[in-house]
Amino acid sequence: MDMATAQTRWNKNIPIKINVFSWCLTRDGPPTRFNLDLCDIDVDSTRCPICNEAIETSQHLFTECTIASSLWSMVATWWGFMDFPKVLGDLIQWGDSVTYDKPIKAFFDTVIQTTSYGPYGIIGISFALLLYNLFLVNHLF
Ligand SMILES: [Zn+2]
Repeated sequence: MDMATAQTRWNKNIPIKINVFSWCLTRDGPPTRFNLDLCDIDVDSTRCPICNEAIETSQHLFTECTIASSLWSMVATWWGFMDFPKVLGDLIQWGDSVTYDKPIKAFFDTVIQTTSYGPYGIIGISFALLLYNLFLVNHLF
Protein backbone atom coordinates (compact mmCIF):
# COMPACT_ATOMS: atom_id res chain seq x y z
CA MET A 1 0.00 0.00 0.00
CA ASP A 2 1.20 3.49 -0.82
CA MET A 3 1.26 5.24 2.52
CA ALA A 4 1.06 8.70 0.92
CA THR A 5 -2.34 7.91 -0.56
CA ALA A 6 -3.74 6.14 2.48
CA GLN A 7 -7.22 7.22 3.43
CA THR A 8 -7.56 9.19 6.61
CA ARG A 9 -9.15 6.87 9.11
CA TRP A 10 -10.74 7.59 12.44
CA ASN A 11 -11.66 5.20 15.23
CA LYS A 12 -14.13 6.82 17.61
CA ASN A 13 -13.34 4.26 20.35
CA ILE A 14 -9.81 5.48 20.97
CA PRO A 15 -8.37 8.77 22.22
CA ILE A 16 -7.77 11.52 19.66
CA LYS A 17 -4.02 11.40 20.24
CA ILE A 18 -3.90 7.78 19.08
CA ASN A 19 -5.95 8.57 15.96
CA VAL A 20 -3.62 11.46 15.22
CA PHE A 21 -0.62 9.24 15.79
CA SER A 22 -2.01 6.61 13.37
CA TRP A 23 -2.55 9.34 10.81
CA CYS A 24 1.01 10.50 11.41
CA LEU A 25 2.28 6.93 10.91
CA THR A 26 0.54 6.63 7.54
CA ARG A 27 2.53 9.65 6.41
CA ASP A 28 5.82 8.46 7.88
CA GLY A 29 5.71 11.45 10.20
CA PRO A 30 7.16 10.21 13.51
CA PRO A 31 10.47 11.84 14.36
CA THR A 32 12.56 8.75 13.78
CA ARG A 33 16.30 9.17 13.55
CA PHE A 34 16.04 8.70 9.79
CA ASN A 35 13.42 11.44 9.47
CA LEU A 36 15.37 13.78 11.75
CA ASP A 37 18.47 13.23 9.63
CA LEU A 38 16.45 14.02 6.49
CA CYS A 39 15.61 17.36 8.09
CA ASP A 40 19.32 18.02 8.73
CA ILE A 41 18.83 17.63 12.46
CA ASP A 42 22.04 16.35 13.96
CA VAL A 43 21.64 12.84 15.37
CA ASP A 44 24.50 10.70 16.62
CA SER A 45 23.43 7.78 14.47
CA THR A 46 20.48 6.88 12.29
CA ARG A 47 20.65 3.28 13.50
CA CYS A 48 17.90 1.91 15.71
CA PRO A 49 18.88 2.41 19.38
CA ILE A 50 16.88 -0.67 20.39
CA CYS A 51 18.50 -3.33 18.18
CA ASN A 52 21.26 -1.42 16.35
CA GLU A 53 20.62 -3.69 13.37
CA ALA A 54 18.87 -1.30 10.98
CA ILE A 55 18.23 2.34 10.20
CA GLU A 56 15.54 3.72 12.51
CA THR A 57 12.71 4.32 10.06
CA SER A 58 9.01 4.20 10.92
CA GLN A 59 8.77 0.89 9.07
CA HIS A 60 11.57 -0.59 11.16
CA LEU A 61 10.58 0.91 14.52
CA PHE A 62 6.90 0.02 14.36
CA THR A 63 6.97 -3.35 12.58
CA GLU A 64 10.43 -4.88 12.20
CA CYS A 65 12.33 -4.08 15.38
CA THR A 66 12.51 -6.83 17.99
CA ILE A 67 10.06 -5.33 20.48
CA ALA A 68 7.53 -4.25 17.84
CA SER A 69 7.75 -7.57 16.03
CA SER A 70 7.23 -9.49 19.28
CA LEU A 71 4.29 -7.30 20.19
CA TRP A 72 2.62 -7.76 16.78
CA SER A 73 3.25 -11.50 16.93
CA MET A 74 1.43 -11.61 20.27
CA VAL A 75 -1.48 -9.61 18.83
CA ALA A 76 -1.63 -11.93 15.81
CA THR A 77 -1.62 -15.02 18.04
CA TRP A 78 -4.24 -13.49 20.34
CA TRP A 79 -6.58 -13.04 17.35
CA GLY A 80 -5.79 -16.40 15.75
CA PHE A 81 -3.70 -15.14 12.84
CA MET A 82 -0.56 -16.92 11.71
CA ASP A 83 1.29 -13.64 11.21
CA PHE A 84 0.82 -9.88 10.95
CA PRO A 85 1.16 -7.53 7.95
CA LYS A 86 4.82 -6.65 7.50
CA VAL A 87 4.31 -3.34 5.70
CA LEU A 88 3.52 -0.50 8.10
CA GLY A 89 0.69 0.95 6.01
CA ASP A 90 -0.96 -2.46 5.71
CA LEU A 91 -0.49 -3.04 9.42
CA ILE A 92 -2.21 0.22 10.34
CA GLN A 93 -5.15 -0.70 8.10
CA TRP A 94 -5.21 -4.34 9.17
CA GLY A 95 -8.55 -3.74 10.88
CA ASP A 96 -10.12 -2.87 7.52
CA SER A 97 -9.27 -6.23 6.00
CA VAL A 98 -10.72 -8.56 8.64
CA THR A 99 -14.18 -10.07 8.19
CA TYR A 100 -15.46 -9.94 11.76
CA ASP A 101 -18.90 -8.62 12.68
CA LYS A 102 -18.95 -4.83 12.98
CA PRO A 103 -18.48 -4.53 16.80
CA ILE A 104 -15.67 -7.10 16.85
CA LYS A 105 -14.08 -5.49 13.80
CA ALA A 106 -14.18 -2.12 15.59
CA PHE A 107 -12.61 -3.68 18.64
CA PHE A 108 -9.91 -5.34 16.53
CA ASP A 109 -9.14 -2.00 14.90
CA THR A 110 -8.94 -0.47 18.38
CA VAL A 111 -6.36 -3.09 19.31
CA ILE A 112 -4.36 -2.39 16.15
CA GLN A 113 -4.43 1.38 16.51
CA THR A 114 -3.56 1.36 20.20
CA THR A 115 -0.84 -1.22 19.71
CA SER A 116 0.73 0.89 16.99
CA TYR A 117 0.91 3.73 19.46
CA GLY A 118 4.65 3.26 19.60
CA PRO A 119 6.28 2.41 22.90
CA TYR A 120 2.89 2.63 24.56
CA GLY A 121 1.67 -0.49 22.79
CA ILE A 122 1.31 -2.48 25.99
CA ILE A 123 -0.66 0.37 27.53
CA GLY A 124 -2.70 0.41 24.34
CA ILE A 125 -3.53 -3.27 24.62
CA SER A 126 -4.54 -2.76 28.26
CA PHE A 127 -6.77 0.11 27.16
CA ALA A 128 -8.26 -2.03 24.41
CA LEU A 129 -8.98 -4.82 26.89
CA LEU A 130 -10.68 -2.30 29.15
CA LEU A 131 -12.85 -1.16 26.22
CA TYR A 132 -13.60 -4.77 25.32
CA ASN A 133 -14.66 -5.50 28.89
CA LEU A 134 -16.89 -2.44 28.85
CA PHE A 135 -18.29 -3.62 25.52
CA LEU A 136 -19.10 -7.02 27.03
CA VAL A 137 -20.67 -5.50 30.12
CA ASN A 138 -22.84 -3.19 28.02
CA HIS A 139 -23.97 -5.98 25.70
CA LEU A 140 -24.42 -8.81 28.16
CA PHE A 141 -26.26 -7.06 30.98
ZN1 LIG B 1 15.47 -1.92 15.86
